[in-house]
Amino acid sequence: MKFCSECAHPVSLQVPPDDNRPRFVCTQCGTIHYQNPKMVIGSIPVWDHDGDTRVLLCKRAIEPRYGYWTLPAGFMENNETTGEAASRETFEEAGARIELHDLFTLLNVPHVHQVHMFYRATLLDLDYAAGTESLDVALFRESEIPWDDIAFPTITHTLRFFFADLARIKREGGAYALHSHDILKPMRRSSE
Ligand SMILES: [Zn+2]
Repeated sequence: MKFCSECAHPVSLQVPPDDNRPRFVCTQCGTIHYQNPKMVIGSIPVWDHDGDTRVLLCKRAIEPRYGYWTLPAGFMENNETTGEAASRETFEEAGARIELHDLFTLLNVPHVHQVHMFYRATLLDLDYAAGTESLDVALFRESEIPWDDIAFPTITHTLRFFFADLARIKREGGAYALHSHDILKPMRRSSE
């Protein structure tokens, strides 16, 4: 941030009185511009036919991670709920209509200032199609997931949690759990 969004004068990075971390403070009007994590919301759209369970993935048509596979997800907008964001992103990226179920993963990604949340969902029909941000949209069984070509760690974690819960439920019954997990920046080895 270089300029104040209130008065267009330059901002400076400083710790305001009674605060404990640096903020962008306007040199003219004194407005403190707080920056907080962004919410990324998505769904796990599932199609199940006689126990043959498949999940809908989108191949990204945008950077970052162009050409890699993701669950439908994106930044939450103002004036919407997390559930509305999940349904909206699923329709925008995959043209898919879903019935939304419970929240399934809550993933902190502190080094990129994001919190990711994914809801389980059921596809209402197979009438899906790639949106403008997707090159392709397809259903995958667990054995078909392109694990080496998944766009982000939060997607890999969510899919692994999902198929682990699914296997447990098929084996012994029970319900899906809420999985919360912190994805920390990989530490550089001291020898490097
Ligand atoms: Zn200002």
